[in-house]
Amino acid sequence: MNCPVCKEPMIVLELDQVEIDHCLSCKGIWLDAGELELLLKDADSGKAFLTAFKSAGPVAEKQRRCPICRKKMEKVNFAGDPPVLIDRCRREHGLWFDEGELNRIILPASGERGSVAGLLKDMFGKNIDGEIRNSPENTE
Ligand SMILES: [Zn+2]
Ligand SMILES: [Zn+2]
Repeated sequence: MNCPVCKEPMIVLELDQVEIDHCLSCKGIWLDAGELELLLKDADSGKAFLTAFKSAGPVAEKQRRCPICRKKMEKVNFAGDPPVLIDRCRREHGLWFDEGELNRIILPASGERGSVAGLLKDMFGKNIDGEIRNSPENTE
């Protein structure tokens, strides 16, 4: 698979026994839907994780193309303060993280390193809790 930024072939990294694609030139990381499912240990969480992000609207950052379907990806905000701008394939093939973006998301402020799966799960849980609390159906 080629990097959506530099178009060079990416290498495969193993993280918690899940293979993820990494570009050595720009240090970006591609997580596809199947890899997310494996990291989160179930298909529903993987799918929900992919669709949990909100579109960032028009931004200055250059658009990238999905390495799987070659369509332009959408810029979305990953929860955080400040939010991290990442690229998501509109067909839910996966997520693209520029250098450092995944670290900003998965490394707690303390800098202590936990498992990627655990941290993604934490993030995912918070994200979804927030969504549920904020939806009108649940404000009784
Ligand atoms: Zn690259
Ligand atoms: Zn795609």
